[in-house]
Amino acid sequence: MQYEAYFQTSLEALKSEGNYRVFAELARDRGAFPAARNHGCGPERVTVWCSNDYLGMGQHPDVLAAMHDALDRCGAGAGGTRNISGTTHDHVLLEAELADLHGKEAALLFTSGYVSNWAALGTLAARIPGCIVFSDSLNHASMIEGIRQSRAQKVIWKHNDLADLEAKLAAADADAPKLIAFESVYSMDGDIAPIEGICDLADRYGAMTYLDEVHAVGLYGPRGGGIAEARGLMHRLTVIEGTLGKAFGVVGGYIAASSALCDFVRSFASGFIFTTALPPSVAAGAAASVRHLKRSGVERAAQQARVAELRARLDAEGIPHLDNPSHIIPVMVGCPVKCKFISDTLMEEFGIYIQPINYPTVPRGTERLRITPSPVHGDADLDHLVGALSTLWQRCQIARQPLAAQ
Ligand SMILES: *Cc1c(COP(=O)(O)O)cnc(C)c1O
Repeated sequence: MQYEAYFQTSLEALKSEGNYRVFAELARDRGAFPAARNHGCGPERVTVWCSNDYLGMGQHPDVLAAMHDALDRCGAGAGGTRNISGTTHDHVLLEAELADLHGKEAALLFTSGYVSNWAALGTLAARIPGCIVFSDSLNHASMIEGIRQSRAQKVIWKHNDLADLEAKLAAADADAPKLIAFESVYSMDGDIAPIEGICDLADRYGAMTYLDEVHAVGLYGPRGGGIAEARGLMHRLTVIEGTLGKAFGVVGGYIAASSALCDFVRSFASGFIFTTALPPSVAAGAAASVRHLKRSGVERAAQQARVAELRARLDAEGIPHLDNPSHIIPVMVGCPVKCKFISDTLMEEFGIYIQPINYPTVPRGTERLRITPSPVHGDADLDHLVGALSTLWQRCQIARQPLAAQ
């Protein structure tokens, strides 16, 4: 086989479908984020409007101080897997912080949210004999891969549809162990799962529940425990999974659950056992971030205010965006070419960075700009963004939405 030629033709196919990914090469400017230095086409300094560092915790002084301190105390890396000399005091403290955040007995750290879903779901589904996994149709790739590699029977239920979930639970063997896997905030549409109804069904059909709160931890609930905390439902979930890389601004993933479940995953998950632990500085920084957001609601309130403001400004301009109850604002373009053009032009002409979201990440015809306003965006940033979008809506001849009738 001509290996190089094969790689090239595969890439050409992606390009001709418009699915070839081009990365924006930026350097975030600590202290001035969402400002970043641009190392690609366009102005030297740009404003980032699509970061998952939702609250700007990636530059919070407490987080940075904790990371500097741990780096100076412990050095760069953990030095091994958790089993072989890689468990530091910082890892243990962070797990205690996370267990407390979700009101669970224990928590278990992984090197990313992706790995936590893949390893925890993979292990639970593979190691519980005859386990059937009921997976929401829009679950994240990390959950899908974990379930797939478990080789357990998988039943996909219609996104956020309780009636469909119930029908599928009822149709399954009543005695089989069951695991319902879903997310709270879905990151592309920003819609939120009916968590309570899912927990009710889980109780009725004797199923465990596994909730990915990656786009909600730090952001919702009085202490940043996520949507389940905000709705008083944390105790009803078997497993809550989260990331330390989005609202907490660092990197890493975790599950929070009973001591026995966490110990089970710790003891059997290949993706936990055979990989070097996170650097102690990362664990210390994440713990500082979690601790801060437990005490402080200022960042959450400021983010919600920014989100509401941008929605209102978009409405005033007639720029269509999906209505949802979360902090994610999907501005709908509905054409892959225009979506990419608008994203490129925002960057090159206006110094605004918003990644286009095209098929296969979202269905064809629903191509969009996914905007994530945060407390670090100022009034001038907002004015500049709305002005630029309005100009480009005009230039691309995209339909505007009439103002809603009063
Ligand atoms: C980003 C994401 C993950 C993975 O988390 P990382 O910490 O980035 O690896 C898991 N689930 C969902 C829904 C996500 O959007």
